[in-house]
Amino acid sequence: MRGLCQLRDRGTRCLLTGRRLHRRGPRRAAGRRPACRGGGGSGQLPDGRAVHRGRLTAVIASSHGRTVLIVGAGLGGARTAKQLRAAGFDERITLVGSETHPPYDRPPLSKQVLAGKWPPERTQLLSEPDVAELDLDLRLGAGVASIDGSEVLLETGDRIGFDDLVIASGVSARTLPGQPSHAALHVLRTLDDCLRLREHLTAARSLLIVGGGFIGAEVAAVARTQGIDVTMVEALPLPLARVLGATVARQCADLHRDNGVRIVGNATIEQFVATNGAAGVVLAAGETIEADCVLVGVGTVLNTAW
Ligand SMILES: Cc1cc2nc3c(=O)[nH]c(=O)nc-3n(C[C@H](O)[C@H](O)[C@H](O)COP(=O)(O)OP(=O)(O)OC[C@H]3O[C@@H](n4cnc5c(N)ncnc54)[C@H](O)[C@@H]3O)c2cc1C
Repeated sequence: MRGLCQLRDRGTRCLLTGRRLHRRGPRRAAGRRPACRGGGGSGQLPDGRAVHRGRLTAVIASSHGRTVLIVGAGLGGARTAKQLRAAGFDERITLVGSETHPPYDRPPLSKQVLAGKWPPERTQLLSEPDVAELDLDLRLGAGVASIDGSEVLLETGDRIGFDDLVIASGVSARTLPGQPSHAALHVLRTLDDCLRLREHLTAARSLLIVGGGFIGAEVAAVARTQGIDVTMVEALPLPLARVLGATVARQCADLHRDNGVRIVGNATIEQFVATNGAAGVVLAAGETIEADCVLVGVGTVLNTAW
């Protein structure tokens, strides 16, 4: 409690940024609780409780007996819990995640873990002892289905009350219209996605990557180290052009080509095809490209449906 009391002595300030939380002047409506925007979109529910969305870096200074509920046990959720404790918040923190795994780091999923160089455990952001030391109420394996007043409703039907709600539910892999569900078709967002793809690649001779973003590029590089034939189809003239610009994208494309990756730019997918063992796409230009394994890496969508 020491940290909180010290903070209160200095007036109401954000626990993490130290900024004053009071709005000055007449703009502050009577009865509204002060909130720190902390660089991400923050706001209040109609009854005045604080909600912090998106790129959250701060939470409000809470009073004794309050519960902070964090929805999303990914990097953002885990870091928020850690920072709250580091800043002296020692009231209840509940961290709810829809995945069954404790919080883990995703970047190695398209690199070291996919390549089999790291065991999945090495990506863990919070170990069991960490959870105990931070005194977190960690609830995994059931997502939040909706917010109902001062409670959230889990997919299991259970309810959890909160005073302050942190939304850290991140994103999911985007899929394309007409993309069928098929054993040979993959996306890569979660540890389970990674392990499925890794296993499939051990038996695959060919890989088709739909989408030339970072994840597609990284998976292409890993697959080539395993001797797999890789074709990458990209809607733009060059992979990575949107994020890196044409000059660097051209250099990256050259590296991939030198490494044996076939790149098909300006590609429009007409439809997916799937047979027993393989899957593929038909391009508007007329070519059909099939492979033992297909990865669709075309960006993400916000997990805001709940
Ligand atoms: C394969 C891969 C490689 C990457 N490589 C890099 C890299 O090299 N460099 C880099 O900077 N970034 C990289 N990233 C991006 C980086 O991982 C993300 O920026 C980061 O994961 C964002 O963290 P987050 O906590 O905001 O969201 P997320 O990681 O998406 O976590 C959100 C969590 O909330 C859960 N959730 C969603 N809805 C609910 C709900 N209703 N109830 C409860 N839980 C819910 C989700 O299951 C998820 O576990 C990579 C991502 C991937 C997938």
